[in-house]
Amino acid sequence: MSECIFCQIIDGQLPASIVHEDERCVAFMDIHPLGRGHVLVIPKQHAVQLPELDAETAQHLFSVARQVLGAQRALGWGVNGTHILLNDGKAANQMVPHVHVHVIPREKRDALATLGRLALHVTGLFGPSKPRTRLDEQASRLREQLREA
Ligand code: AMP
Ligand code: ZN
Repeated sequence: MSECIFCQIIDGQLPASIVHEDERCVAFMDIHPLGRGHVLVIPKQHAVQLPELDAETAQHLFSVARQVLGAQRALGWGVNGTHILLNDGKAANQMVPHVHVHVIPREKRDALATLGRLALHVTGLFGPSKPRTRLDEQASRLREQLREA
């Protein structure tokens, strides 16, 4: 079994609330969301940092991230703003050594709550994870939106 937790998710060895899957990538709900409906998009190919990925796969990740953003907004999440974030390398707070694009919906006046969660994220403590049932429900709503788009 791979030591990489995101490779384990790709291989179905770790649970995840899957939003999208194709031949190049998988998108799933972040277990410690920094905003409502926070999604991660990862390549199926194991790569620690962005420069290790081929250009097409890298472009594909951002294209899927854009589609996810559209689906989130159709559900009313992040309608006033979204972070598309890629922490590339330890000095940039990358905690999981497998490339991932964050799609983090923000809401008006959520800065205080987000800052608290961000502080936990940066320390690697993360805090309590979101219940799986809630993540599954959000993933299912996003999948439905992506199907309709
Ligand atoms: P980063 O600091 O950019 O490496 O962020 C890693 C992200 O992975 C964090 O937002 C974590 O909440 C998320 N994460 C870690 N383990 C899991 C998991 N098993 N399922 C979903 N998200 C995860
Ligand atoms: Zn991996």
